[in-house]
Amino acid sequence: MDLLHPMNGNVLPDPVVGHHEECYDILQMVEGLMKPLLYKPAQLHDLLQTTRIVPYVVDIWVNLLRYMSRDFRKNPTMGLVTRANNAMHLLLTPGDAEELYVPRNVADAILRATGGYPRYLCRVIASYGKMLAVPTSTTFTSDVRTVPELALSACPRNAVYRLVGFLDAYITLKAWSAVQSACGYIAVLFTVMQDHRSIEWAINAGLFTALARLLDHALAPSDTLLESGAVDEVTTKLCQGLNLWSVLHAFDQMHRDHLPEKQTLRAVPYLRRVVESYEARLPALDTARSRWRRTVKYCCAYDECPTRGRLDAPGQACSGCRTAYYCSKSCQKRHWQAAHRQSCAESALHGQVESRDIFLIQRISELCIENNRTDLVTRVRHLDPNREQNLFFKVDCLQPVPRVVVLSDSLVGPGDIRHVRIVATYKDGLEKAEYNKSFVLLDAFENGDVDIMMPPE
Ligand SMILES: [Zn+2]
Ligand SMILES: [Zn+2]
Repeated sequence: MDLLHPMNGNVLPDPVVGHHEECYDILQMVEGLMKPLLYKPAQLHDLLQTTRIVPYVVDIWVNLLRYMSRDFRKNPTMGLVTRANNAMHLLLTPGDAEELYVPRNVADAILRATGGYPRYLCRVIASYGKMLAVPTSTTFTSDVRTVPELALSACPRNAVYRLVGFLDAYITLKAWSAVQSACGYIAVLFTVMQDHRSIEWAINAGLFTALARLLDHALAPSDTLLESGAVDEVTTKLCQGLNLWSVLHAFDQMHRDHLPEKQTLRAVPYLRRVVESYEARLPALDTARSRWRRTVKYCCAYDECPTRGRLDAPGQACSGCRTAYYCSKSCQKRHWQAAHRQSCAESALHGQVESRDIFLIQRISELCIENNRTDLVTRVRHLDPNREQNLFFKVDCLQPVPRVVVLSDSLVGPGDIRHVRIVATYKDGLEKAEYNKSFVLLDAFENGDVDIMMPPE
């Protein structure tokens, strides 16, 4: 392998195919060496420690297009692409031998090969999306997601756009395994990106339209594709994304007037979920928007500001967190010194949830409680007939149609029995999930008591 590897410069590139042949041979060798050892952890460990399999495979995986001649690059043979995917798959799923820390080796090698740029890695993923255009039974490389070190902090918009474009093209070709790969890659980007903009971009690039086409009865995608879970994963992420202001807004802009016949959508479980989520959240958007404008965007965040609450134009956002708005530079400076220095860093840490997302979730929860008032009053009476405890509402917004759970908390002691508080909007079990921002939301609800007005007996 040392002798053949394009990086080592021992073999002159072929004028027609570049280093295609060597790459193919190396990847074939890797398969031959690794496969028999997959269930022999000790020997596999030795092999990976004593050879340069890991960096070489990673290098070929990242630089595949570069190692081919210019003409050949446009149309790489599927054999090579498949081999590259398989080899990466072998490195990332070392059978029962998880104690080998193979993924960490691979992560280190990928980070070195991409110069530590997540964007570069995204480009690699996008180029594989492109190369998979030919129908094939390629092993999907979503295993990259199992490596925490590779969590991406940013992603170029065009990687998302290209993947959605390829997805659309594969659907036309009825190339189901390529569709599966593209869905898988899209889900990887949704999962590993810290920033929810990937979902927003995918919607703008026509992801939902493509999915609607894919799941249309006339097209009848293969059962294998549906059973693989790739489509399910994409629609689930899409639903969850609709809890976020900018994603919901993007979906509304794209599809308000263009939702294909709703009856058709409702017949397909995957799409019904998305449409139900959209419709359950949309009514909250307008109220949330006006509240947020009134109390955040047109308010100087500095408590001592003389104009607080009376701005005629939107304030200027803090570039660090984009959740605090100011009337002037001097207010921002004073607030920074007084308090914002700490809270800004915290807001930035929380990443994708902006202040307006909290307003949206709050409104979604309120609407959910308002709409279920009768049922809730019955449940409240049942839980605490004498009304001596504090009762809490917990709204699970990760469901397509939000659900309310009523909890009693005797630890709190008797309180104002007419008040029931919203304590959380996300399920406990999902608090550690990717969209975990419940601690932010909890703060927001601490003083947001909702009176459900017990009717007289
Ligand atoms: Zn001010
Ligand atoms: Zn800030």
